[in-house]
Amino acid sequence: MKEQGVYQQLRSHLAYLRLGAIAEQLAAALEHAEQEKPSYTRFLERLLAVEVEATERRRLEGRLRFASFPSEKTLAELDYDAQPGLDRRMVEELATLRFIAAKANALLIGPPGVGKTMLAVALGREAAQAGYRVYYTTAADLVAKTQRAALEGRWQTTMRFWNGPQLLIVDELGYLPLPAEAASHLFQVVSRRYEHGSIILTTNRGIASWGEIFDDTTVAAAILDRLLHHGTVLTINGPSYRMRRHQEQTETLRAGLLGGATGG
Ligand code: ADP
Ligand code: MG
Repeated sequence: MKEQGVYQQLRSHLAYLRLGAIAEQLAAALEHAEQEKPSYTRFLERLLAVEVEATERRRLEGRLRFASFPSEKTLAELDYDAQPGLDRRMVEELATLRFIAAKANALLIGPPGVGKTMLAVALGREAAQAGYRVYYTTAADLVAKTQRAALEGRWQTTMRFWNGPQLLIVDELGYLPLPAEAASHLFQVVSRRYEHGSIILTTNRGIASWGEIFDDTTVAAAILDRLLHHGTVLTINGPSYRMRRHQEQTETLRAGLLGGATGG
């Protein structure tokens, strides 16, 4: 076969095998090889690495899309000075993602604005980057979806869905009281995932007042029991970051106004 024919054949192999990234870089790679004369092994390895990198990137994007994070926050953006209530060592331990490998849980407790959602999302992002399947939901959403599924005869499918991700983030438990039926749905999810997959749960209620979130205190205790058995509790007791920004803005505004008054 003529060289041109071989080249066309090669391109059609790449198309058939859907090796799009290699196809895109083929001309440049061949030209580079003509000049550098790498070994056959090295040439082939470099070429395949192009496709591996593209596939990894695509899969990561897929995992991040699936995760449905409500923000782009990362661990690097966590400001420890602004939040003295945040235990850095515990955050760093969680960031190793050992808890996910161990199918253990993390409970983030603290008043509004202290960074619970940010931390949960940032840990979730780390996990997705490390190759784990992650899904973010709020407690209210989880309960609403499960309730609807039960009514529409999709209970098993939905339970399988909640069981799927290696890390399930359940945000904002406790802002709304959970009626008995909703609590039992949450219990089902937690107990099916028990020793099977990790949960990061955030709540504004200290463990002692979980009875107030749930109409049914037995269910509250059963949920806590499973979450805490292999669980890290991280309590963030500190100022609200939201209010802090608010305060800063107010102060800047006032300084500006005062400056204007003395200046003019
Ligand atoms: P919570 O979920 O506890 O109510 P959030 O995670 O929503 O609080 O935090 C409120 C806002 O403050 C968010 O924009 C978040 O990114 C920011 N924030 C909170 N804590 C920190 C922190 N330690 N460093 C940087 N930003 C923070
Ligand atoms: Mg939050």
